Amino acid sequence: MTRVVVAGLGDSGLLTAIHLANHVDVVGISAKPALVSGQELGTRLARPDDWARDYLVPFDRYRRLRGVRTVHATLTGLDLAARSVAVRLADGSASAEPYDVLVISTGVSNGFWRRPDLQSAGEIDEALRAPHERLAASGTISVLGGGAAAVSTAANLASTWPDKQVHLYFPGDRPLPRHHPRVWTTVEARLAERGVVLHAGHRAVVPDGFDCDRITDDPVEWSTGQPATTADATVWAIGRVRPNTDWLPPELLDADGFVRVDPDLRLPGLAGLFAIGDVAATDPIRSSARNRADRLLAANIRASLSGRPLKEFKAPRGRWGSVLGVQSNGLEVFATNGKPFRFPAWSIDSVLQPWIVRRGIYGGVRRP
Ligand SMILES: Cc1cc2nc3c(=O)[nH]c(=O)nc-3n(C[C@H](O)[C@H](O)[C@H](O)COP(=O)(O)OP(=O)(O)OC[C@H]3O[C@@H](n4cnc5c(N)ncnc54)[C@H](O)[C@@H]3O)c2cc1C
Repeated sequence: MTRVVVAGLGDSGLLTAIHLANHVDVVGISAKPALVSGQELGTRLARPDDWARDYLVPFDRYRRLRGVRTVHATLTGLDLAARSVAVRLADGSASAEPYDVLVISTGVSNGFWRRPDLQSAGEIDEALRAPHERLAASGTISVLGGGAAAVSTAANLASTWPDKQVHLYFPGDRPLPRHHPRVWTTVEARLAERGVVLHAGHRAVVPDGFDCDRITDDPVEWSTGQPATTADATVWAIGRVRPNTDWLPPELLDADGFVRVDPDLRLPGLAGLFAIGDVAATDPIRSSARNRADRLLAANIRASLSGRPLKEFKAPRGRWGSVLGVQSNGLEVFATNGKPFRFPAWSIDSVLQPWIVRRGIYGGVRRP
């Protein structure tokens, strides 16, 4: 039977494995023993138990991963000639996994919440709790960054802890510069209701050698000329993403280190190699994860195996999706034209999560 190795079982790799599981022999390789989603930083920091329920799910709970062999290991190399990937297992030993088809879905590293390190369930739990407890013990919190992760962090911290002073520092005139302007108009009102103090035109100086991978309490200097500021805790969500591609031959990568792909998600000129998610240079904002290219990828892999034509991934022009995550009044999702659609609060646990997400998207998730 054809063997597909999915390298990286995050949001995109997991869904791709699920779609392929009934058709081919699938091996999923992951540095974590669970889906540890890169989504919803604000909820993760403010309400880690709520976040974990939906975004931290051990692989053995996915019904449609039955039959998929998951390997808890770090990918260390790719041998194109031998058609195999090299891995280092949790006990430190090395091994190789041969493939007929390889899916590269190792995502990106970002801040302290998206790391490619090998972690046990206990270490993942500790990495979830520690930042929450650190923030819980802080009176003043600075959040740095102008993207959805920073905005959502400021909003969720302020609503969970109304007695704390939460400041949001961002470099431009307004946050969310890549979203439709209407999105900011709506989100700004939510931040104002929660007393978040906005500081436009602030670009932080990133200290030498600092990877934005921890919460700090040193004064923050500004390259935009303002005097340094202090807070009990500073969250750096400035969008410094790094592709997790150290394990790949450099000829597969573009100048920024992301995996070059054709519109059908194949690596140019390499039979049997595909890439998806934040690691894949599909479009300027590398949106194949949020635009759910996993189904198309699974169909293209099956088409390539049976000699049928492949389809192309087309990214929508604008950003869409949720910015703040689930709030006490429901979940607001913005379309590319900036118009919000709200799932009311009552529908989140009775319709959205059980039926649309767990059943519809993942094909069934067992209770813990
Ligand atoms: C259903 C769904 C809904 C979404 N909704 C939104 C939305 O509303 N708004 C929005 O902005 N975005 C949304 N997104 C997208 C999301 O923000 C990210 O783009 C997505 O998490 C990226 O997924 P990924 O698989 O590329 O990376 P990741 O989820 O980060 O997965 C990469 C995995 O590879 C592992 N890995 C890395 N290196 C190695 C290695 N060397 N060895 C072994 N394992 C390794 C990592 O540990 C990780 O588990 C959504 C995505 C999905 C699937």
